[in-house]
Amino acid sequence: GLPAAPPPVLGKRRVTRQLHVGAVGVGSDFPVSVQSMTTTVTADVNATLQQIAELTATGCDIVRVACPSQDDADALPQIARKSKIPVIADIHFQPKYVFAAIEAGCAAVRVNPGNIKKFDDKVKEIARAAKDHGTPIRIGVNAGSLDARLMAKHGKATPEALVESALWEAELFAEHDFHDLKISVKHNDPVVMVRAYELLAESCDYPLHLGVTEAGPAFQGTVKSAVAFGALLRQGIGDTIRVSLSAPPMEEVKVGTQILQSLNLRPRKLEIVSCPSCGRAQVDVYKLADQVTAGLEGMEVPLRVAVMGCVVNGPGEAREADLGVASGNGKGQIFVKGKVIKTVPESKIVETLIEEAMRLAEEAGPQ
Ligand code: SF4
Repeated sequence: GLPAAPPPVLGKRRVTRQLHVGAVGVGSDFPVSVQSMTTTVTADVNATLQQIAELTATGCDIVRVACPSQDDADALPQIARKSKIPVIADIHFQPKYVFAAIEAGCAAVRVNPGNIKKFDDKVKEIARAAKDHGTPIRIGVNAGSLDARLMAKHGKATPEALVESALWEAELFAEHDFHDLKISVKHNDPVVMVRAYELLAESCDYPLHLGVTEAGPAFQGTVKSAVAFGALLRQGIGDTIRVSLSAPPMEEVKVGTQILQSLNLRPRKLEIVSCPSCGRAQVDVYKLADQVTAGLEGMEVPLRVAVMGCVVNGPGEAREADLGVASGNGKGQIFVKGKVIKTVPESKIVETLIEEAMRLAEEAGPQ
């Protein structure tokens, strides 16, 4: 038969230049990718590679590692070689580490124009080294470390100030005929951040890396990032994303992935459609939803599973899903692809759903 139509998305992608971070294409020809950053000491090669492996298993596309010292720079060749996903070296202050990271075979280098001292006169050499190695550069402007010149001019880290800093730096690279650039203009306030990216998107055709910086602990950071990325991705702005959380980086990847899946920018995998419960509920919906989610974690096939508390919306939602349960009277009606296949006692709901999900996954074959 005909291939299924792609799921609808909210906005047309902003057309950008393309580049490659290792094997990952970045720009409007490629899917939006998810990044995170290791929290280990980079010089501790084993710990860093271990965390990169965990990030990879969680679905991270590109990983960034900090490089604040010579020991960290010395660890880069081994990390870049052994990581299964592209490694970006994150450099502040020291141009010499930029050269070390390029030589080390890092897939890209992130520089912060506000934090690299005497950076501007090094641009020519950096551009040459990066070009020789085919290494893209991310210009990562951050509200917390805005260039002193622009801070003086704008008074604070306004959207205009962030964008001016980024474009100034990009122009320095462009003067040396280097265009493999990706840009970010991060701010901790989603409103300022969104405005900055909108301005930047109008002013250049470089791919953009989205981030709300210092977004906070998991709950606040998740909400801030989701609303800000949503506002931008809805306009087609954003080519890579990083959710910054004061939480383990694997959580950042899960949130980033979920944001992209929610917007149909990445195929949805397991999706639990569960009701909020209400006075009509005849079963503990929270517990049931948690148990089903836990039981199906890591499912690689797209599967919509409805967990509903009663027979009001229950059967309707359960029928729309691939798999579902509508509870009532101490029993659960199990639906598969819109048909009731059996009714089981409440105590058997979770195991029956998991069994049926596994069966559907098997039928779908390897993804
Ligand atoms: Fe309430 Fe039933 Fe709707 Fe759940 S499905 S929110 S229990 S009416």
